[in-house]
Amino acid sequence: MNTFSIAIHGGAGTLVKGMMTPELEWQYKQALKAALDAGYDVLESGGTAVDAVEKSVMILENSHLFNAGKGSVFTAEETHEMDACIMDGKTLNAGAVSLISGIKNPISLAKDVMEKSEHVFLAGEGAMRFAKELDYKLEDDSYFYDDFRHKQWLEIKDTDSFQLDHAKKKDSKFGTVGAVACDKNGNIAAATSTGGMTNKKWGRVGDSPMVGAGNYANNKTCAISCTGSGEFFIRGVVAYDVACLIEHKNMSLQDASNEVINKRILELGGDGGLIAVDAKGNIAMPFNTEGMYRGQKSSLGVDEISIYK
Ligand code: ASP
Repeated sequence: MNTFSIAIHGGAGTLVKGMMTPELEWQYKQALKAALDAGYDVLESGGTAVDAVEKSVMILENSHLFNAGKGSVFTAEETHEMDACIMDGKTLNAGAVSLISGIKNPISLAKDVMEKSEHVFLAGEGAMRFAKELDYKLEDDSYFYDDFRHKQWLEIKDTDSFQLDHAKKKDSKFGTVGAVACDKNGNIAAATSTGGMTNKKWGRVGDSPMVGAGNYANNKTCAISCTGSGEFFIRGVVAYDVACLIEHKNMSLQDASNEVINKRILELGGDGGLIAVDAKGNIAMPFNTEGMYRGQKSSLGVDEISIYK
């Protein structure tokens, strides 16, 4: 049997150390642990990597602590527009949605795009019509309302600025979420879900739902979920770049991930991190920010939740 493993992240936009209280830290760690354990249980009982990453991401989406699903940030119009992507490393099938609202678990809609449509990426109104055809229930605005999020938006709503969770003036506590897993059969998968940037407008979409930028999986190389300054991650084609370094330069998972996060994306001016697994169950989780909410668990006995370096 293959070593099986899972890694999750809750964004590279952690609270700066001075603002983290023991109580909050406990809450974050509990939420991460719940998501990590749930995904791991799927793998342990023989489930697929795709089901495991969906499961973990759903749990993170259901928490108000992270910038995805329930905790999504406010757009310039005081709404929520969410993006998500899932990819199966065995078949290279993928599903993605962007600019959707009212959906409790965007990652499940992305999985339905992968499994129940002929397409890879559905956006906006069309994606919402697809959800309606599949009888998705829509949550009302109050489900997505969060006081902290709203204050964060009020501070910048009349300006032209957008705010990433890992902006330097960092007083925010949220982040995009993601999971990558390797199952007992050596198949890998990646899932990523986000509310994007506070005060975003004009239908702005980041890297998270884009195959190859914020999310990618291929059994031959690796499964990756990113978090960071989306515009840079799109231009750096970050997730696929890691896969390319493994495939064409024969680099290890660890070296390739490090090269992209601690060198290439920094040179472009971007910040953030990623989580990665390969088909042998190895895990890498580099980031170039102060922290990244993250966790990893494997059949070799690794079981860890961390926030800072
Ligand atoms: N990468 C996400 C985006 O640009 C943001 C994040 O990771 O926090 O939409």
